[in-house]
Amino acid sequence: RLVLGIETSCDETGAAVMDESGTILGESLHSQKEVHLKTGGIIPTVAQRLHKENIARVVQEALDRSGVFPSQLSAVATTVKPGLALSLGIGLDFSLNLVRRYEKPFIPIHHMEAHALTVRMLHAVDFPFLVLLISGGHALLALARGIDDFLLLGQTLDEAPGDTLDKVARRLSLINHPMCSTLSGGQAIEHLAKEGDRSKFWFRSPMGQHYDCNFSFAGLRNQVTMAICKKEEEEGVQKGKMLSCVNDIAAATLHTVASHIAKRTHRAILFCKAKSLLPQNNPTLVVSGGVASNKYIRETLKIVTDATELQLLCPPSKFCTDNGVMIAWNGVERLKEGKGILSHAEEVTYEPKAPLGADITSEVR
Ligand code: ATP
Ligand code: FE
Ligand code: MG
Repeated sequence: RLVLGIETSCDETGAAVMDESGTILGESLHSQKEVHLKTGGIIPTVAQRLHKENIARVVQEALDRSGVFPSQLSAVATTVKPGLALSLGIGLDFSLNLVRRYEKPFIPIHHMEAHALTVRMLHAVDFPFLVLLISGGHALLALARGIDDFLLLGQTLDEAPGDTLDKVARRLSLINHPMCSTLSGGQAIEHLAKEGDRSKFWFRSPMGQHYDCNFSFAGLRNQVTMAICKKEEEEGVQKGKMLSCVNDIAAATLHTVASHIAKRTHRAILFCKAKSLLPQNNPTLVVSGGVASNKYIRETLKIVTDATELQLLCPPSKFCTDNGVMIAWNGVERLKEGKGILSHAEEVTYEPKAPLGADITSEVR
């Protein structure tokens, strides 16, 4: 059985053809990152236009590389939630035309479920496992109990860590830095932090008094912005020009982001252990999302998983960020279990907001 996966929830147009074993037969990805980097953020109408311009080519490329004809597909799986409405709409429209034309079943996919399950394409990880998703749009901790069965333990109350790092990078004008001009904000901060001294700045770790697993990054960003303003004044540097201490600020910011993420994850692990929600045998923490490719954050999380005797699994970067492969894999998992496969897809709509599983964030202490 063969599945075509299509992703357009945010700023990448992705497609992949996969067989039942999880082998990628062909894939293609078009990222809009560079365009959005120039405007300092995603403009939804621009994202929509770029998806529209690229989707037919991206899907055709994935099919061509796999040598599979649409008529041979067992199903088409497409992200329908959550994400940018205008972006989701392009992928859904395209997919519905395809399934209508070739009379194929349609599998609507939840983008965050797909992020959470990708690890199973690469490792034999059984349910239940704990998953931490950290990206440009999300920060969440969830217990994966089955392919469509999740418990949401914590989520961000304001912004996502990737968004915070992107905004700090922009405030530091890192796009003008010779080593960082083509990097995302998160990558730029990771790069500069290596040469920085984090003890030169001190930022309060968020939510110290909140005994749950939620996240908050907006207050930290505010602290960082104030520190930057103060330095600009001291050094007589104009807003928009680069400070001499960007490395130190990057190091301190990254350290605080990492330790906040690690502390909330530690709480989630202790909660799951206390409630016997994780298996005795090989309990696992899966980390995914664009921010998960950060080495410093991974190393900080490793300290937590070592101390709590969990296995830490993190898919390679290319599978952590948005792509068609993870959507195809979720389609394969659903096809195997016969879950959520629609033979008549006329009624399907996209949902910009969609929580991951049952929300028990307020019960986690
Ligand atoms: P979502 O998947 O939640 O809809 P998104 O598409 O913005 O959001 P991803 O594509 O998974 O998220 O990841 C992009 C984000 O990851 C950006 O905010 C980027 O700054 C951040 N990022 C990428 N690489 C790194 C890194 N090495 N360290 C920290 N952050 C990083
Ligand atoms: Fe994503
Ligand atoms: Mg993305």
